[in-house]
Amino acid sequence: MSATPEQAAEVLRRGELILLPTETVYGLGADAGDPKAVASVFAAKGRPQFNPLIAHVASLEAARVIGQFNEAAEALAKAFWPGPLTLVLPVADRSHVCDLARAGLDSVAVRVPAHPLAQQVLAALGGPVVAPSANRSGRPSPTTFADAAEETGAAVGAAVDGGPCDVGLESTVVSVLDDRVALLRPGAVTRRQIEAVVGPLHESGEGHRSPGRLTLHYAPDAPVRVEATEARPGEVFLGFGPGVGDPRWSLSPSGDPQEAAANLFRLLRAADREKPAGIAVSPVPSEGLGEAINDRLRRAAGYVG
Ligand code: AMP
Ligand code: MG
Repeated sequence: MSATPEQAAEVLRRGELILLPTETVYGLGADAGDPKAVASVFAAKGRPQFNPLIAHVASLEAARVIGQFNEAAEALAKAFWPGPLTLVLPVADRSHVCDLARAGLDSVAVRVPAHPLAQQVLAALGGPVVAPSANRSGRPSPTTFADAAEETGAAVGAAVDGGPCDVGLESTVVSVLDDRVALLRPGAVTRRQIEAVVGPLHESGEGHRSPGRLTLHYAPDAPVRVEATEARPGEVFLGFGPGVGDPRWSLSPSGDPQEAAANLFRLLRAADREKPAGIAVSPVPSEGLGEAINDRLRRAAGYVG
């Protein structure tokens, strides 16, 4: 049964974990200032402790308590919050987001989610919540309540049902640690949208790194093959665009990247349940949201890192 936001906040206060819907994917939430609770997030996910977590807060004002905002960071926050953009900033107050949550770094990742239920949990708790995707480490992110419950439901004291996630892809992560803004992870806010606010983005590297991006990620059990034109024997084929593959297994029958993003993890997980020889995915154009979709697919296929 679904917990209310108030019940979820109470569970967080006790140092336990929650399942939390956001507009991107379901999160496994803990009080960001509670090192024991944060340790159980890493344990429940099997996540390596060098991979820092994103702190979710209710407002830009609350974010300013934990991170240092320069002009570019302010402009990005004003343009995209609440919404699926994460800012990596020099840490301000260290106590609100514990060392373990930051993986001991001098920076902190912060986001204001738009989902009303996430907002209500944050308001009820009155402090930051770390909420990495609710999957066990390395697996596809859950975008439905049932998928989240299947992944890490056993580890939580409360689970909030928000139905399917609208965006279906994780937040875009950018670092604003000096004069440069670097893209650490493509996501729901596109490169072009960010560049319209702060100008050309730098590539990550030289102090702008995302420790969690080094490993195989988002991967179902079945091997994933990308840029496929048809299924090989025993494969499930995920199409994209009109007339490509079985419409029931299409990321988007009309070729709409937003629809494909919303369906991506759900279909990867559903295909995996068929225990196929493999999952073949047709090409998805890389403009706009396609950059993030292709990033996830390449990692699911093990072509990166
Ligand atoms: P997840 O919680 O799985 O959505 O992943 C959060 C992403 O943000 C990972 O790729 C992390 O490596 C990245 N991240 C979080 N905090 C930092 C930080 N302080 N510096 C760089 N990257 C970060
Ligand atoms: Mg994740």
